[in-house]
Amino acid sequence: MRSAFYSVGLIVAVTAAVVPNSASTQSSSDPSVQENTILYAGSEYYPPFEWLDEKGRAHGFTTDLQRAMAKTDNTRIEFQLSSWRAALDAVISGEADAVALIPSDNRSDSFSFTQPFHYLTHGIFSHADGPHYTQLSQLNGRTVAVAEGAFAEYKLRSLGLDINRLIAADELDCLQKVAEQAAAACIEVTITSEQLINRYELPLSPSKTKFWPQPYVLGVKKGNDELLKQLNDKLATIMVNGQYETVYQRWQHLLEPGAHGIWNALFNALWFIIPLLVFASIALFWSVTLRYKVNQKTRALRTKLQQNKALQQKIEFNAAHDNITGLYTRTAFFSELNSRLKPDNSGQTLPVTLVSIQITNVESMITVFGYETAISTIGKFGQRLKEMHQYTAAHFGTGLFALTLENESELDEVVNSLRAPLFSEAGEIEPQLTFGVAQSHCAIDNINSAELVRRTITALMAARKRKVQHCTYSDSDEPDAQNLQLLNDFHRFGCQQFILHFQPQLDIAEQKISHAEALIRWQHPSLGMVPPNKFIPLLEESGGIKQLTCWVIKQAVEKLQRDANSDSLSSLKLSINISSHDLLDEEFLPFVRDAITDIDPSRLLFEITESGLIEESSHAKNVIFTLTSLGIGCAVDDFGTGYSSLYYLNELSVQEIKLDQVFVQSICNSQRSLTIVKSTIDLAHQLELITVAEGVENQPTLDKLIELGCDRIQGFFIAKPIPEDELNSLIQKGWN
Ligand code: C2E
Ligand code: CA
Ligand code: CA
Repeated sequence: MRSAFYSVGLIVAVTAAVVPNSASTQSSSDPSVQENTILYAGSEYYPPFEWLDEKGRAHGFTTDLQRAMAKTDNTRIEFQLSSWRAALDAVISGEADAVALIPSDNRSDSFSFTQPFHYLTHGIFSHADGPHYTQLSQLNGRTVAVAEGAFAEYKLRSLGLDINRLIAADELDCLQKVAEQAAAACIEVTITSEQLINRYELPLSPSKTKFWPQPYVLGVKKGNDELLKQLNDKLATIMVNGQYETVYQRWQHLLEPGAHGIWNALFNALWFIIPLLVFASIALFWSVTLRYKVNQKTRALRTKLQQNKALQQKIEFNAAHDNITGLYTRTAFFSELNSRLKPDNSGQTLPVTLVSIQITNVESMITVFGYETAISTIGKFGQRLKEMHQYTAAHFGTGLFALTLENESELDEVVNSLRAPLFSEAGEIEPQLTFGVAQSHCAIDNINSAELVRRTITALMAARKRKVQHCTYSDSDEPDAQNLQLLNDFHRFGCQQFILHFQPQLDIAEQKISHAEALIRWQHPSLGMVPPNKFIPLLEESGGIKQLTCWVIKQAVEKLQRDANSDSLSSLKLSINISSHDLLDEEFLPFVRDAITDIDPSRLLFEITESGLIEESSHAKNVIFTLTSLGIGCAVDDFGTGYSSLYYLNELSVQEIKLDQVFVQSICNSQRSLTIVKSTIDLAHQLELITVAEGVENQPTLDKLIELGCDRIQGFFIAKPIPEDELNSLIQKGWN
């Protein structure tokens, strides 16, 4: 508002400067004018424009402006402030020169007006405790106070509204009439009335709506054009020279009470600030909500990631660890071992001692205690290895473990601590352990984990074969390449390349070939004739012996069938070698039962080695009993190589014993052998067992055996193992 007014003021100043500008200069230089004193009339109660202070001095914006105007040409001025009516009358009567007032039609009859130097508005002032009037139309039918001679009085009269006007002596009186409730409201200039209300603490409240905007000017007696021009010039001068601005600033706080101060600025700014704040709050709320949601999503994502990571770690752990023992799996152990076997920067590798451990009684644990107990025992054994923190251990499955040691000297301690019994729901179980040890010594060994593990398994197998608790790997334990080829070929061709040879036995009493031992031969296409001592142990180890025994029995039975109608051959009896592994095979007896249905079973004899009988004594006892009850004869082969105890022969229902060729061949030059053979034959006869001597290679041995009372003779001296047709013709030819 102030700047708007200032713009108007400038326009007034410019207009004044263009038209009569030189007049002010002229008048200031005119001594007669200078000597003139301008007497300003005015109201004694019209703050902030003019009023009398306690000492009766004139004060106010208008009076200050008038002083500033006087300074422009050193005019003397005086003030005469009285009641408003008196002030107006003073100018009209010529007693005073000028007065600040609002120009109006009726006043223009008595006054001439300068350019405006300010603007005023009017408002309705109601009693604070009564109805609050804001519009003129609300005052219809009410008593409204107006100051006598005031613009409002004239204006209200000219509008012709149905309002009962109560004329007050002056502005203050006008307000007091409302305070005393002599009038419902009064209409006054807003700025001056607000000042008076504050100053005299009147219980009035102004209307917010302001109306009747009017210029505020200086009025001179009508016709006093010279003074009018002079005042216009002075007004223009103070506006141009900045004095108007100085005075205005001095009174600004009262002229623009509503627009003054920081609070007002703030209030105005609120129109911008509030929407801004609302917008900012919405934005803040939105951003906080968004941040919350993002945080929530981030947290959820982080949790998910952590869960995934944990799951991944669990999967990786499970993949690398055996679920029975919690030890490394084979794959994880191999890669761990490989990193140890890798040469360091200087090309060196630390020596590694690897031990393979097999619990050899897993099968018996399963059969005796059940699968669950066996597995939990394996788990406990694994736990025992795990507790040996200084070593790395793995479980390869079904009781086969691996363990790395710093050096072989630690082995004994490890073996001792691992042998201790394990406790299960079934009670105490002692693990039967076999250890195979292999070492990687230095970089030149250049072996990987797979090779080192293979060596420990080779050593472990050697230990089992030798029936010792542990073996350290040596090249000599390596399986023969030819053996591997034989096993492979047996796997591929079965018994196709086998033939049976027969070694005749001479019956001493009858002086004829009464028996023959069936001995297997492998006619290998590339290796030639392979002796049974080479491949039988391999087949026994690999489980192929069962297939071979069945094949031999079938061949022998077929030969007996072929011989059945031949005069010379129909009484021939055939001996077959049975492995101790066959005795354990549940299918063996049913197979034999089936196989012999078309022959005379007494023409068959099963030879079982002495060591095989001892190993499987209780089982062998039953099998032999069944075989003899089927009519098949049984013989103890290689007698004298094992425990040489005739005691157990009583227990077994065998019919004959075959003296091992080691003793037989030395009876002519070893007294000891002679004694053994002689006493064995004697004892056997006492037990009603038939004695057969094998490995007889010469006449003296034969003679000696005849002398000792041996029942049958087998050996190269009679004949080597020969094909069937040769045997047949030998028998048909007759002995001698
Ligand atoms: P064995 O049962 O003790 O068979 C006798 C072995 O002594 C045969 O060796 C035979 O050729 C050999 N022999 C016989 N008389 C003499 C002799 O006067 N001097 C010498 N130095 N040796 C003689 P072969 O045929 O090599 O058989 C070796 C072993 O292979 C057999 O010993 C037997 O244990 C096993 N065997 C042979 N055929 C079979 C079979 O069909 N099944 C099973 N399970 N084992 C068989
Ligand atoms: Ca034999
Ligand atoms: Ca033998």
